[in-house]
Amino acid sequence: MRVAIGGFLHETNTFHPTPTTLADFRGPVGHWLFGEEIVSTFAGTRGVIGGFLDGCQEADLAAVPTFFAQHPPTTGTLTAEAFDTIRENLVAGVRTAGADAVLLHLHGAAVAANAVDPEAVVLREVREAIGPRVPIVVVYDLHANIGTDWAARANAIIGYKTAPHVDFYERGREGAEVTARILRGEVRPVVAVEKPPIMIKAGLMSMTDAPLALIKPPMFWLASRAREIERDPRIVNVSIAAGFGDADTPVTGMTILVNADADLALAAGYARELADLAWKLRRGFLTDLVLTPVEVAIARALATPDWPVILADQGNNTAGGSPGDGTAILAGLKAVGWPDAALFIRDEESVRQVWAAGVGAEVELRVGGKHEPTNGEPVPVSGVVRLLTDGLVRRAVGGTPARLGKTAVVRSGETDLVLTEHPSTQTGPQFFRAVGIEPRERRIVVVQSAHLFRHAFEVQERIPKMIIEVDTPGITSPNVARFTYRHVRRPIFPLDDLSG
Ligand SMILES: [Zn+2]
Repeated sequence: MRVAIGGFLHETNTFHPTPTTLADFRGPVGHWLFGEEIVSTFAGTRGVIGGFLDGCQEADLAAVPTFFAQHPPTTGTLTAEAFDTIRENLVAGVRTAGADAVLLHLHGAAVAANAVDPEAVVLREVREAIGPRVPIVVVYDLHANIGTDWAARANAIIGYKTAPHVDFYERGREGAEVTARILRGEVRPVVAVEKPPIMIKAGLMSMTDAPLALIKPPMFWLASRAREIERDPRIVNVSIAAGFGDADTPVTGMTILVNADADLALAAGYARELADLAWKLRRGFLTDLVLTPVEVAIARALATPDWPVILADQGNNTAGGSPGDGTAILAGLKAVGWPDAALFIRDEESVRQVWAAGVGAEVELRVGGKHEPTNGEPVPVSGVVRLLTDGLVRRAVGGTPARLGKTAVVRSGETDLVLTEHPSTQTGPQFFRAVGIEPRERRIVVVQSAHLFRHAFEVQERIPKMIIEVDTPGITSPNVARFTYRHVRRPIFPLDDLSG
């Protein structure tokens, strides 16, 4: 039997001032793939599509690749043209495939100028194109804002079970396995959806029981209970979408999805239980438990005898939509005389200037603060150019390439400033090693990442002796009280007082 495979991924921070266009998806850091291009790009990789392909082969299903579009979250709301073109390509691809089932990878947190829940529109149109009998299975990202109407259009909805995400491939395989079981008539999944009134942002969604975690985060307990429920043989899959509070839409917030075999009442009961548990744990999502001001963070990092110290720049989480040029920590390091530190800033203008100057040259730059008004002012930096590279780095999980574009290291005092043409999320030490910086040897390592860095840095390599989540301005600050929401449903925690 044949399974149509496709995907549409964007995580849209609606506070980002720059729209995401068709050209962005087709550009150097996006994906815009038709048919066999999907296979040649992802076969053998440890991503979701790699898992789809291997899982189909294992189950003796022929994968029919259709259309796949992806762009990193460093730009804002999709233009109507971008979304309409993606939607038309995906729906046409699935229709033409005429397959026995459809397996889709949808991020789940996209927002378009003409759709508040674009994936729900895609699912509706795919369903209309293939009719009511062909099963649709979706694999989505844990940071999805899922509308309750997804369940009416898809037969099974499966989310990542880890944050930081380390199970792309496994969930892709699970999606293919569930599809195979449906096609063989072994299961008939039904999906119950609960949306507890909780809206959180990425920095608070970590669910690892990491070595430095003194208090286990709420998502850890929710995921633990979800795994227990999955041991019930009548349950096909339990997923918790933590949501994406960086998007201001009516579907923003946490979603619990329970896929049960033909028993909606059973699924609904478990979904309600998990929603109640999330509600009981909600105070663990409050930002004052985790955030430290910039000056305090730097002073603490310079005072401790045990280093490296990782400063996680929460307001500039490029994986959550930041353009990656926030200057709060850069300015803080300058204020204390450029101590032993390494940090990345995306700044194409400074990169051009540094490349023109060449290695060994002394440069005067105005760094960062150019793409987003809350990201701070450009910081004057004088330094020496140490290195120029093409900025290609392999990600720690999945092994897919991250393209930083032209990249340069400029040294001021003991601080190494890595300037990149494109935004990057420094999810692992290999980003620093690619430019000749060994994080173990530095006192302060700054990452533009809310929590995705924890897997490689903290769990795998155990590099930091301390991690400080730094309260920087910028559109990915986890403090929702700093933002004006116009479209999220109310009341919702923690914007509204829901005690009592
Ligand atoms: Zn995610």
